[in-house]
Amino acid sequence: MTLTSHSPTDSTTMVIKPRVRGFICVTSHPIGCQRNVQDQIEFVKKQGPISNAPKKVLVIGSSTGYGLASRIVAAFAGGAGTIGVFYERPSEGGKPATPGWYNSAAFEIAAKKAGLCAINLNGDAFSDELKANTIEAIKKELGQVDLVIYSLASPRRKHPITGVVHNSVLKPIGQVYVSKTLDTDKEVVKEITVEPASPEDIVETQAVMGGEDWEMWIDQLSAAGVLADGAKTVAYSYIGPEVTWPVYRDGTIGVAKTQVEKAAQRINEKLAVSGGKAYVSVNQAVITQASSAIPVVPLYISLLFKILREKNMLEGCIEQIYRLFAVQLYSGNAPELDEAGRIRVDNLEMRADVQSKIKELWPQVTTENLKTVSDFEEYKSEFVKLFGFGVPGVDYEKEVDPACL
Ligand code: NAD
Repeated sequence: MTLTSHSPTDSTTMVIKPRVRGFICVTSHPIGCQRNVQDQIEFVKKQGPISNAPKKVLVIGSSTGYGLASRIVAAFAGGAGTIGVFYERPSEGGKPATPGWYNSAAFEIAAKKAGLCAINLNGDAFSDELKANTIEAIKKELGQVDLVIYSLASPRRKHPITGVVHNSVLKPIGQVYVSKTLDTDKEVVKEITVEPASPEDIVETQAVMGGEDWEMWIDQLSAAGVLADGAKTVAYSYIGPEVTWPVYRDGTIGVAKTQVEKAAQRINEKLAVSGGKAYVSVNQAVITQASSAIPVVPLYISLLFKILREKNMLEGCIEQIYRLFAVQLYSGNAPELDEAGRIRVDNLEMRADVQSKIKELWPQVTTENLKTVSDFEEYKSEFVKLFGFGVPGVDYEKEVDPACL
């Protein structure tokens, strides 16, 4: 899936500006996205190679956020051939593509330039069809894979067996949740009330984010003989601070994430015969399209980033994933696990001094002091950067073809 240039006669060039609507930006900039990918590649190269890293890697949810960072670390610190699966919209009728489309095209170009195999598969990862296409691509291009990263974040899933479309919700369970939140458009700190989930909401959210699809992937890859002996698989999770527990950890999504941990145990048992391993890695809160849609999280991240920066501990997706690979998964030693058997790269976020500062600042933050108490300016600039805007060195007044990199 390389973006191809149009002939001069049908090319449409335009100046692309950000158009933010709530927690989404409806435009994106191809050159800015490409620069973001390149910056992550440069970061990884600077850290240096990871000698025990896998050479053949499948990343499910590879176009943005933690999945993109995983693909970049695998390729540029491990020299891996990668297959990336994602669901993104190409440019159509002169409209920009989604950022994940540009990111994936930019990754493919950079990986191929570095002599690495890079296959992009755009479609619904929940479907049997895309799983079958992925298996075909692995057989043809890589033979087998020795690492499968599962990094999907999706609001819905069409079940491949029943055909039912399940919708996930972010709701508390058994209680109304009232909290401070941030209206990022109006830049106002206000109160939010979230009604409790119904029993159906809980089941629906589990069906989307509860690990059944991860297990289906591993079962099908395994049955097709495309998982190498000793292959590892990792799914990403989040726990976060007490202020968000009612709506996150103890809410519908938290229940689903607990199911992912149970799926990890089952997958572990299945992979044990071939020496394989399944892990859940709990990662730090970062600004991604998925996290910006969660109530309360943008305000929490704005505070967190200020605290972590002051302590010189701030990490984004790429720093987190480099550390996950270098220190936990491929250090030569077994990963360090918490009491529930999970890898914790959220250890800096969850440090007692960081969380006690959050507790101290949370009641203090208001619309008036938002920009001094928190790093909201940083939040805004990182948010538009996800869509390729505000990236240093990009000329945003220059016309670009939204269908080309
Ligand atoms: P993201 O929104 O940046 O990326 C989601 C990816 O999933 C994209 O590549 C998208 O194309 C893909 N995707 C979504 N639906 C798909 C479908 N039907 N078929 C194929 N691909 C599909 O998300 P993220 O924030 O990087 O989250 C990834 C994982 O990391 C999630 O499990 C999330 O819970 C976890 N996590 C996120 C954070 C955070 O703060 N963002 C923190 C810890 C853990």
